[in-house]
Amino acid sequence: MKTIGILGIQGAIEEHESSLQKIGCKTLWVKEASDLTRIDGIILPGGESTSMGKQLVWSGLMEPLRQSIAQGLPVFGTCAGMILLAKELDGNNAQSRIGLMDILVRRNAYGSQLDSFVTELEVKGFAQPLPAVFIRAPRIESCGNGVETLASHQGHPVLVRQAKMLAASFHPELTDNTELHRYFTEMI
Ligand code: GLN
Repeated sequence: MKTIGILGIQGAIEEHESSLQKIGCKTLWVKEASDLTRIDGIILPGGESTSMGKQLVWSGLMEPLRQSIAQGLPVFGTCAGMILLAKELDGNNAQSRIGLMDILVRRNAYGSQLDSFVTELEVKGFAQPLPAVFIRAPRIESCGNGVETLASHQGHPVLVRQAKMLAASFHPELTDNTELHRYFTEMI
């Protein structure tokens, strides 16, 4: 049985946990570096990327986490989690983050909380459309050569993969559909 870590700082942690448990995974809230040795992959949940980035630095988890991902620990960043993974940020590029994925991201580009929306996405390789919840979502403005787009919305990629890194602008854990969590566990 695979054990999937969920970065346990803040944000939609329980929701990811319940999606993962539905597909038969064990879960572990990752709060310190030693937790990284007990997991097969990690989810970086949505929440507030600035505060998650700062707390990763303060807690001393940033460097070990970055190293594990650079060495191939499979990672799935959703919404704020995607921002943490982005190499480039349009706006405040100094914001603390992991920064290993070759994407340029603009935070809050889909508008405020009130502009949140739900849509259905055609995902490469998925038989059925995937429901996707966008909440103050970041927009992927461009991707490097090694990045594959798995789904787009209004002309922008919203689900991308680079080797063992997967990132979504939206929240897959806020619906009953567990297909994307299953896809991630199959990357492991
Ligand atoms: N707007 C948030 C940020 O910039 C992300 C929102 C979310 O994760 N739903 O961190």
